Amino acid sequence: MPPGVLPSHLLNLPADIHFCIIDVLDYVSILNLRATNRYFRYLLSDQQLSSARKHYIRTLVQAESDDWLDNTRFICYECFRWKPWSHFGRKQILKKRSKGHADAYKRFCIDCGIRRPRWQPGQFLKSEGGDIVLCRVCRTLQTTDDAARGRGLCGSCAKISHGQTDSGVAV
Ligand SMILES: [Zn+2]
Ligand SMILES: [Zn+2]
Repeated sequence: MPPGVLPSHLLNLPADIHFCIIDVLDYVSILNLRATNRYFRYLLSDQQLSSARKHYIRTLVQAESDDWLDNTRFICYECFRWKPWSHFGRKQILKKRSKGHADAYKRFCIDCGIRRPRWQPGQFLKSEGGDIVLCRVCRTLQTTDDAARGRGLCGSCAKISHGQTDSGVAV
């Protein structure tokens, strides 16, 4: 390459072209592009981002509605991934949050529930795999039983802390 000639690079293109490219990207691709550098991070306004997000959610809700007979997989509207039913708490995939229903777009998977954090330690949920709790002690999602559930503990931590009061359990 002759000296003084810049290598061909996305950043060297005019901003109009950047907006044209963004126009054809879905929301997740826009997020990926934003993660590449500060220029793209700040190129879109909050309003543009929010409208891209809403549009993307509408397309996902529609895709799910078209797929309503299949109850083996669902979309998480936090991480925007299709995931097997076992990756969701039961409340997230039934009734209003089931496919094609009014609040489907509010559904989030177990991983996102922990990460955000939407759930506090001690959170109990019913999943298709049984009753589980985000244990106050080991801070992981574990199966629990009736006795340990009220204390927000998993079965193993409840055994270890047996005899202690709740206030005596490290949180
Ligand atoms: Zn998720
Ligand atoms: Zn535990």
